[in-house]
Amino acid sequence: MSEPIIRLQNVNKWYGQFHVLKDLNLEVAPSERIVICGPSGSGKSTMIRCINRLEEHQEGQIVVDGTELTNDLKQIETIRRDVGMVFQHFNLFPHMTVLENLTLGPVWVLKRPKAEAEATAMKYLERVRIPDQANKFPGQLSGGQQQRVAIARSLCMNPKIMLFDEPTSALDPEMVKEVLDVMVELARETGMTMLCVTHEMGFARKVADRVIFMDHGEIIEQNAPDAFFDNPQNERTKLFLSQIL
Ligand code: ADP
Ligand code: MG
Repeated sequence: MSEPIIRLQNVNKWYGQFHVLKDLNLEVAPSERIVICGPSGSGKSTMIRCINRLEEHQEGQIVVDGTELTNDLKQIETIRRDVGMVFQHFNLFPHMTVLENLTLGPVWVLKRPKAEAEATAMKYLERVRIPDQANKFPGQLSGGQQQRVAIARSLCMNPKIMLFDEPTSALDPEMVKEVLDVMVELARETGMTMLCVTHEMGFARKVADRVIFMDHGEIIEQNAPDAFFDNPQNERTKLFLSQIL
């Protein structure tokens, strides 16, 4: 494996007394696509939120693109420039138009000229197939459209790594596909490293290089998607898959 772009080494985290991440070890290669699944409460969100320091780990080491996550704010800032995140609930700014949502980071954080940021924003809105929504407010869009705006907003920051935390689980069923299609395209057309928490197994089979199963704060099993779904080894994985498939 080439030098990993993300490395977790013996990572432990507690919420008070509750041991939420237990000795996690994970190496992600550049351009690798990983799907993370597991029961609710198993620590999936906590793990990926630790990668861009939305949560702090207490033990072990997390290194992202050569920078270790410590309390050093400069290092956190460096890592956040490399890492985009898409949440379950979109997290768009409701009082700003779609275009303003997309140009805010590039203009204020990356110091890009406004015209350039707008051109880039339109490019990504075309990529997620909603250029015609640029001047609307998030509240005027469907859930699927809002999530595509959120994906485009992350892409405008030109990240090396994208983290997705159940990006389709708050959507009505008819909107899931339009968001997954955009993500599949993104995976196929860019070399971006992707970590995605999802239970969308069709997506995992199409896109993932590796599926990771978490339970009770531990990585229990991991494998290439076909092997993972067709021939799970661990009893807990089997039980989980029997409940979702
Ligand atoms: P998942 O994403 O796999 O559903 P989470 O990472 O969100 O799991 O949560 C793992 C466990 O940690 C759950 O039991 C949850 O209740 C608990 N937890 C999550 N966030 C907090 C928090 N901020 N404070 C205390 N407990 C938390
Ligand atoms: Mg979660």
